[in-house]
Amino acid sequence: MTKPIILTVDDEPPVLNAVARDLRKHYGNDYQVVKAGSGAEALAAVKEFKQRNLSIALFLVDQRMPEMSGIEFLTETSKLYPEARKVLLTAYADTAVAIVCINSIGLDHYLMKPWDPPEQNLYPILDDLLSDWLATVPTPYDGIRVIGTLWSASCHNTKDFLSRNQIPHQWLDVEKDSEARALIEAANVGQGRLPVVFFPDGTVLVDPDNRTLAEQVGLRTQASQPFYDLIIVGGGPAGLAAAVYGASEGLRTALIEKEAPGGQAGTSSRIENYLGFPKGLSGADLARRATAQALRLGAELLTAQEVTGVRVKDPYRFVTLSDGVELSCKALLIATGVSVRELDVPGIKTVTGAGVYYGAAVTEAAHYKGEHIFVVGGANSAGQGAMFFARYASKVTMLVRGTALEKSMSQYLVDQISGTENIEVLLRTTVVAVTGQDRLEAVTIKQIDTNKTETFPAAALFVFVGAAPHTDLVAGLVERDERGFILTGPDLIREGRRPRHWKLKRDPFLLETSVPGIFAAGDVRHGAVRRVASAVGQGANAVALIHKYLETV
Ligand SMILES: Cc1cc2nc3c(=O)[nH]c(=O)nc-3n(C[C@H](O)[C@H](O)[C@H](O)COP(=O)(O)OP(=O)(O)OC[C@H]3O[C@@H](n4cnc5c(N)ncnc54)[C@H](O)[C@@H]3O)c2cc1C
Repeated sequence: MTKPIILTVDDEPPVLNAVARDLRKHYGNDYQVVKAGSGAEALAAVKEFKQRNLSIALFLVDQRMPEMSGIEFLTETSKLYPEARKVLLTAYADTAVAIVCINSIGLDHYLMKPWDPPEQNLYPILDDLLSDWLATVPTPYDGIRVIGTLWSASCHNTKDFLSRNQIPHQWLDVEKDSEARALIEAANVGQGRLPVVFFPDGTVLVDPDNRTLAEQVGLRTQASQPFYDLIIVGGGPAGLAAAVYGASEGLRTALIEKEAPGGQAGTSSRIENYLGFPKGLSGADLARRATAQALRLGAELLTAQEVTGVRVKDPYRFVTLSDGVELSCKALLIATGVSVRELDVPGIKTVTGAGVYYGAAVTEAAHYKGEHIFVVGGANSAGQGAMFFARYASKVTMLVRGTALEKSMSQYLVDQISGTENIEVLLRTTVVAVTGQDRLEAVTIKQIDTNKTETFPAAALFVFVGAAPHTDLVAGLVERDERGFILTGPDLIREGRRPRHWKLKRDPFLLETSVPGIFAAGDVRHGAVRRVASAVGQGANAVALIHKYLETV
């Protein structure tokens, strides 16, 4: 841990050196003594220390300096380090001004020059102030700090990306935290753009994209080689399971994930029905365990890389990444899953990410402590979301199209919801409009049977309304159903006939698509049972079938 700083400022070099010498002699073991020859030089150093989140315990500053007086300097630095102790070095003539500053800037002490002997005139005073500082100062957070506002889609994205990739960070709300505002001002970055992300090494990123963030925090974004036995697209449960089995069974395996490993399951607040976890486990926990397991067994994981296209040149399959790089493999597994469908109602686009969220958005839940929030949807994911949000919100209203929750939700969740006092379920209702400019303010809901509409103030709206598959990357290459889900194995055999361009003298394997050597697993498949366990099972099974395929090429 870095030592806290004592900063001393004086424009007269002999005095400055003498103060620094005396300070180092007495405090050098516990503090880093930094000296500066002018207010401007010292202010620049303070700003840098703040960016690196270093602690300053004490300022010992000469009052009479050209350009910036000691008091002016302390006024500026108080915005960044309000808790640091402030001592002014004064001449006899300055005492009146120093006394005024005790009130105006919270000056802790003024010392008359010269202070010799320091054992008598300097150390006892500073000892007292430093022990006071030590007793009250909060331990500095020495990790990544994200400064932003709740009401911004890009701030939500940065927080969500870091959380889902299990990167610890501290969130500071610029609207509530004056120090956060001062830090942005001092760093002179952003010019109004948020979020601003401060890293412990001093790097500052303004509204970064996921790839830049991933690279800065040390996640792998580039492949180590151009060719693999198996490339898996999508790091949800299906892709992660395939990575574990592929790598452990000797295949050179790369998994490419555009956001964060864990997929939809990674956003779940609690998965209660996955075998072997009687108390349930959070999606984040499952994602962390599976990722560690896949890496340990030798799979390569690329994060913040999207596969935008797939082509075939036998015997190889090629994927194009969003940065234009092309990788090739013998066998390809598409495990790209689904996303929650967007709700198409007036006003929603303006406040998406600023009160309206798709899916669980667990990172946001805690911000709605004591507020009234709405959940749209009646399936298990909506039920889990409602249970999770009910821990924070004063009231959660579920808007469900159906006539009974039991029709679309597992009974254990229905029971939990009916036993939770602050969850209200409105059946046969739907959202018809959303209002708010910078943030969500209200939702208008309609009773389906009576067409009656009503508008309620709302702090947040979490949407869980059905799923759309991520299959654009193979559009026109592999056969899909009318909703875009990928057809595999027996689904491709129609009236006893194999797919149109299929040239092999065998039927497609169970999880094989209409292109030999390209497989699909998990929610992205037509007719898939959308559960963690079935995605995991299919990921594992796909690898067994890939071995069979590889024997034939
Ligand atoms: C909130 C919520 C709670 C749930 N709770 C449960 C539960 O309790 N129990 C249960 O059994 N099931 C639950 N489910 C369902 C379960 O999570 C899914 O069935 C499962 O995650 C599907 O896994 P998958 O690997 O097929 O796809 P996904 O989990 O959807 O993962 C697909 C991954 O592919 C990535 N991807 C997509 N396109 C590309 C591309 N072009 N390039 C690179 N990467 C790409 C995505 O970013 C994503 O990470 C829940 C789902 C949600 C949303």
